[in-house]
Amino acid sequence: MSKSTIDFVSTPVPTIYGINSFNDTAMRERLPKAIYKELKRVQEGETELTLEVAEVVANAMRDWAIERGCTHFTHWFQPLTGLTAEKHESFIAPTPEGGVIMEFSGKELVKGEPDASSFPSGGLRSTFEARGYTAWDVNSPAFLKEDQTGVTLYIPTAFVSYTGEALDKKVPLLRSIEALSRQALRVLRAMGNTTSKRVTPTLGPEQEYFLVEKDLFDKRLDLLLTGRTLFGAAPPKGQEMEDHYFGNLKERVADFMRELNYELWKLGISAKTQHNEVAPNQFELATIFTTSSVACDWNQLVMETMKRVASHHGLAALLHEKPFAGVNGSGKHNNWSLGTDDGINLLEPGDNPHTNAQFLIFCMAVLKAVDTYATLLRMSCANSGNDHRLGANEAPPAIISIFLGESLTEILETLSNGHPIKTRGGERIEIGVTTLPKLPKDMTDRNRTSPFAFTGNKFEFRMVPSSESVAGPNIVLNTAVAEVLAEFADILEAASDKNKAVEKLVKETYKAHKRIIFNGNNYSMEWIKEAEKRGLPNITNTVEALAESTKPNVVKLFSKHKVLTEEELESRYTIYLERYIKQINIEARTMIDMVNKMIYPAVLSFIRQTADTLVRLKEVSSSLTLQEHESFLRELVENATSLKEKTRKLETLVAEGAKNHGEDILEHARFFRNKVFAGMQEVRSFADKLETLVGKDFWPFPSYVDLLFRL
Ligand code: ADP
Ligand code: MG
Repeated sequence: MSKSTIDFVSTPVPTIYGINSFNDTAMRERLPKAIYKELKRVQEGETELTLEVAEVVANAMRDWAIERGCTHFTHWFQPLTGLTAEKHESFIAPTPEGGVIMEFSGKELVKGEPDASSFPSGGLRSTFEARGYTAWDVNSPAFLKEDQTGVTLYIPTAFVSYTGEALDKKVPLLRSIEALSRQALRVLRAMGNTTSKRVTPTLGPEQEYFLVEKDLFDKRLDLLLTGRTLFGAAPPKGQEMEDHYFGNLKERVADFMRELNYELWKLGISAKTQHNEVAPNQFELATIFTTSSVACDWNQLVMETMKRVASHHGLAALLHEKPFAGVNGSGKHNNWSLGTDDGINLLEPGDNPHTNAQFLIFCMAVLKAVDTYATLLRMSCANSGNDHRLGANEAPPAIISIFLGESLTEILETLSNGHPIKTRGGERIEIGVTTLPKLPKDMTDRNRTSPFAFTGNKFEFRMVPSSESVAGPNIVLNTAVAEVLAEFADILEAASDKNKAVEKLVKETYKAHKRIIFNGNNYSMEWIKEAEKRGLPNITNTVEALAESTKPNVVKLFSKHKVLTEEELESRYTIYLERYIKQINIEARTMIDMVNKMIYPAVLSFIRQTADTLVRLKEVSSSLTLQEHESFLRELVENATSLKEKTRKLETLVAEGAKNHGEDILEHARFFRNKVFAGMQEVRSFADKLETLVGKDFWPFPSYVDLLFRL
């Protein structure tokens, strides 16, 4: 589809928005009132879903889908590969007369049994014993996907083993939301709130990505197999002119975005903001925030839709964290807050004493959670792609800290010192009794270098990798905050003077955890030294980050809040380390392949041409000065020799890595990080050098200039 077929005049946005989503409007329209009400109660967690209700919902869903030309349905789930998975079934049910009717039962809606035994389970489930099953996530609307294969009904589900272990990212996310709601409500009740019934984390992710010409993409084996360029000399121009960020959209890109928005809006996904990012050919899309489990599903769909729509425009969308060396990579900003079912944002500083006390308590809960579980938050953002970004002066460092802004920090500092904050009239301010000075939302103050920034009424976690599900970081964040809220609730519930208790808690928490606050430049060297002095962890790579994930305090946190059992944590630890090993292994092997089959032969041809020319020149005349050409030839040969040597060395390392490194998967992963990955850097340096020497016509694949500047 190109721009000519998308016409927002004849089909205004409101008429297409959400037409592919079996959302609340569709349900209200199509379900009998009693069933609709019952389903709402199920969504609120007040009652269990019965098969009778599921039967009616399934029928309505089927009719709705069939009217739209749908023939198949699928349970849609999010296994630990980080991708989404689906297995399509048609609605047809043969009749004795040789015809068919279109059927979709309540049972098929609520439960699926994909033969999904090949998904990683990290030892939770052996392939020979039990299959997993998928269960409908009633809070995430079913949707229709239209593509070249037709129209399919997608049912968002959770994926569990028969013994109930979470085999996916959705189950722990839902559990963490439950835990957070439970503890946040305890705090609210203790502070006198009698009306809110639920607290949900809200999430608005901003997704960064690159677009490159599909024809050029196809010529790069590295992009195809690993998602990033393993070679590429720095182009004469990078991002130093700052002429791409927020620049005007090229027509071709605008056309892509138009179709992307169209597809997302039909799914009821609120694509809102789009702009050019810092690096050339880098862009961003932000959706409007919603509850975090739905936002997680949406973000998966945003990523998938980006790739699909790009192909319609002869483009490839790159979601990798670091597709190109030397220019910014991509992340995902995780805007996170806490909302009650009756519309209160708990991280909104209010204009009355009560909301201010509430804000300070929840803000301090986040402060303490982030300080206490910093390594865990770091771990939740670790993948091989993000290793290239974090700490590379383009993204937050690998050190977790919080930006609160000068004004809020000052207020907290004054409070905790026991100095009374005075109003203009000279009255003493007490938390929960009088109003705090208004917190100016000064935008100048917004710190772009902070990994975890307070931005007025929410926190923005900026370490999240662009290619991954947002589930992981949010599971950690929700659970860590739930734990601190549980501790706060214990204190507040027991206190006789609530205001005094709140004030004391705010002061003490601030004092104990203010080391995590940093309002300065996170990219500076001074901060790294300062953070070390403060005792803040600085975990620079995925392997060491994952090593933290099964420590006793982590196991305790997740099991206490029933988010992940020790076995479930272990399985994730194994799966993610294995994945790291596999990724580096694929990258190394792709490099070797590209050197041996493409770069080295090209370099040799160029050397031969240069050498032949020299011989001819010498034949023509012995009086020609050929020194420069001879030394150029020498430079070529020397670099080619080093390239070959380093490639052989990498081949040896890969072979060694393939041998079983005993039972210790952590050591195995360390070998890939410290040896194989390091070996890859060496190969790259000589290949990139040669790219600057060898004639353009000889170089076997598109250059950085081609990929980054031609669109
Ligand atoms: P910026 O680029 O300045 O950070 P954007 O407008 O691109 O700002 O993104 C802000 C994101 O924060 C949007 O996705 C928005 O929906 C989200 N957001 C706003 N309020 C909340 C909230 N209460 N909870 C979670 N996310 C929120
Ligand atoms: Mg942002």
